[in-house]
Amino acid sequence: MTATVEIPFAEGQEVWWAGNASEKVTVECPECCGTRAITMVKGNGEEVSLACGMCSLGFDPPRGTITEWVWNHAPQKLTLGPLTSVDNHGPDGATRYCYGSFRSEDLFNNEGPCQLDCNRRNTERAEQVEKQAIARLESKRSNLAHSASYWATQCRTIREDLKRAEARLAACKKTPK
Ligand SMILES: [Zn+2]
Repeated sequence: MTATVEIPFAEGQEVWWAGNASEKVTVECPECCGTRAITMVKGNGEEVSLACGMCSLGFDPPRGTITEWVWNHAPQKLTLGPLTSVDNHGPDGATRYCYGSFRSEDLFNNEGPCQLDCNRRNTERAEQVEKQAIARLESKRSNLAHSASYWATQCRTIREDLKRAEARLAACKKTPK
């Protein structure tokens, strides 16, 4: 007697796959609007122009543009090859059936449900990208504000030290009476 298990899709079956097309696009930097600089207004009203941190990579100067990934899941019709593996790594630990590189959770019998799932994925990806962009923006902004106030404090301290040093130098130069 042979044990049999039911599989969701059979070899040779025509199915719809939630394709995962993605592309890298270059867009104008949302922080500096392509001007490569941002103006920070300090608490005392003083305006400071800073190199945009959002569109600069590492030590490179700002470019005025940023690159981001855009996902475009769209239904694709395909004919399934043989079942190659079964594991429990599906969403929420569900059983996953793999047909080569195609996974059961990405496969549908009909185009309609596949399209709905693609729409859901695209929305989720877009929300994720947006969330990351905002987090990056906030962290870059706080870094910038921190550096600007750090160096302003450094300048003030050094100026005061210089004043003190000049006063002492002047005292040293005084000819004794
Ligand atoms: Zn920028």
